[in-house]
Amino acid sequence: MLTYRFLALFLIVTLLYSPCSLAQTTKQPADLIVTGMVVTMDASRAIYDDGAVAISGDTILAAGPRTEIESRYTAHETLDARGKLVLPGFINGHTHVPMTLFRGLHDDVTLNDWLYKYIFPAEAKNVTEEFVRWGTRLAATEQIRSGVTTFADMYYFEDAVAEETKKAGMRGILGETFIDFPAPDNKTNAAMLAYTEKFLQKWQGDPLIHAAPAPHSIYTCSQKTLQDAAALARKYHAPILIHLAEMKKEWDDSLKNNGMSPTQYLDKIGVLGPDLTGNHCIFVDEADRKTLAEKHVGCTHNPSSNMMIASGVSPVPEMRAAGIAVGLGTDGPAGSNNDLDLMEEIDLAAKLAKITKMSPLALNAKAVVEMATIDGARALHMEKEIGSLEKGKKADLIVISLDAPNAVPMYDVYAQVAYSLKASDVETVIIGGRTVMKEHKLLTVDEAAAVAKAREYKKSIAASLGME
Ligand SMILES: [Zn+2]
Repeated sequence: MLTYRFLALFLIVTLLYSPCSLAQTTKQPADLIVTGMVVTMDASRAIYDDGAVAISGDTILAAGPRTEIESRYTAHETLDARGKLVLPGFINGHTHVPMTLFRGLHDDVTLNDWLYKYIFPAEAKNVTEEFVRWGTRLAATEQIRSGVTTFADMYYFEDAVAEETKKAGMRGILGETFIDFPAPDNKTNAAMLAYTEKFLQKWQGDPLIHAAPAPHSIYTCSQKTLQDAAALARKYHAPILIHLAEMKKEWDDSLKNNGMSPTQYLDKIGVLGPDLTGNHCIFVDEADRKTLAEKHVGCTHNPSSNMMIASGVSPVPEMRAAGIAVGLGTDGPAGSNNDLDLMEEIDLAAKLAKITKMSPLALNAKAVVEMATIDGARALHMEKEIGSLEKGKKADLIVISLDAPNAVPMYDVYAQVAYSLKASDVETVIIGGRTVMKEHKLLTVDEAAAVAKAREYKKSIAASLGME
């Protein structure tokens, strides 16, 4: 009897104390530990000069001081980026990636001429599913090279964009365009709705791809088309992407036809909501900004595009002050910006605000780095998933070298990222725990093939437009 009691006591003591002593001696397993100067962009904007990020699968286990992370975790693989920056991957909030193949087709013309004389005819003659695949592959290489891990897109054959994005290992909010004229993929509104519904069903629950309806704008879509797109999105809890208040003409026409601004019109017809991202948001007055904030609409600012097509300047400081989440986008990559270099947009966003307000205080380096990371995530309503390096978020991170002449010396990390560092300083890119570029070498896309194919497309596109 005594023996049994002794055994029971022994078992209880063992059970009580062994997990504790195990925790003291056993480290938790991780798949990857990245060490370096970790700029988290978390709520406190913590920066760990000698930091580390522990990753398991596609998720961050912890970010913090290196000694602490190394004492808690053991990994199969380590990436020693000491002396380099480790940042959340950049978020390109607005683009049209297959248009890489139209890069530089016709510049220095008005938006109207560019659209109606060149791009719409070029698209009608050249855009096929195969075209979209090659354009997306080329764009993936260019975006990864500038540290972009997530992008929001709007084009045709978006299911093919999604397949190629997934193959490249990138995260995408990919919008199938709704537009009231026969598009390269869908010739009628019924076909467009059916295609998009199938597209949304196909990608439900995918860890990388978020399929979305993308009504192009209020000036190319009827009220019914806008409402159909929003209803379809809401049926599948999908995001909605739209060009919003991007042209003076759009503002003037909306006042004339709807008796209110583009923002108020979209609100009135029930399209605005916490699932919508409005791109450009140039013509948004104080009342519009209040509405956008109240409806939790995200916005993207596209400084290169604002300048290149001279459409006006988005009131970014005012939007931020109103509590609107404002991210950054390249737009383009043809006509409105001929590249997909998001680091250029970080730099230009600050400088465009400064010159517009005639004040160097208008928008600072830290603000524009926020716009490229955590605020970009908020603008896409994905802040629970991406945008910062912290426990539970997706392991989307980039390593930036600090060895180039333009990278030294460094007094302030945000100023360095915003004004000194270049896309060519981005060395390694990890998306969802998977390394897609290691020391400048792309691992998920055949870059040489994409470049060669782009040159081939140039010949056939030029020929189709009688340019050769
Ligand atoms: Zn656009």
